[in-house]
Amino acid sequence: MNDTSHTGPALDVTTGDITTEQVDAIVNAANSSLLGGGGVDGAIHRAAGPGLLDECRLLGGCDTGEAKTTKGHRLPATWIIHTVGPYWRGGDHGEAELLASCYSSSLARADEVGARSVAFPAISTGVYGYPSDLAAAVAVDAVRSAATSVELVRFVCFDDETRRLYEQLLTSPKR
Ligand code: ADP
Repeated sequence: MNDTSHTGPALDVTTGDITTEQVDAIVNAANSSLLGGGGVDGAIHRAAGPGLLDECRLLGGCDTGEAKTTKGHRLPATWIIHTVGPYWRGGDHGEAELLASCYSSSLARADEVGARSVAFPAISTGVYGYPSDLAAAVAVDAVRSAATSVELVRFVCFDDETRRLYEQLLTSPKR
């Protein structure tokens, strides 16, 4: 992708299991307890091992739109940044602002630990019901407008349909 005018992170997209990503930090779409759940959260806890839950218990939960960092435990990634996406409630309950905040807060946490490469799942688009096309647009806009030292952001999609949504957004001019 040729995005040389852009001073923020390079953006790329792939399909697969985020737990295997060889990046400095992966982002978890957690719930507010930070004590594990289904979907990508369950996959991350299974792959990282029980030490992750022990560390998460010390964090005291996390509000929607915010993010907290743990170590990567058994993952290839050094860090896991846990963020809590909004439930989709029709779109007029601040969902887009909260979802954008997940991305900007996660990048702020990445900067704090010096992570230069960060992989994101499609936050809120599973059990939380956020429409994938709208969520992808929020994700790309939020990352493009973030002030961050992160050099690479990878969107890790779980299916090819979602990947194509991101590919379209990444090849369209920056808004
Ligand atoms: P939320 O509760 O924020 O909606 P989910 O985990 O239910 O979170 O889903 C978020 C997205 O993560 C969905 O698009 C789902 O398909 C995707 N997903 C599930 N497992 C994985 C995984 N191992 N790697 C990457 N993405 C995943």
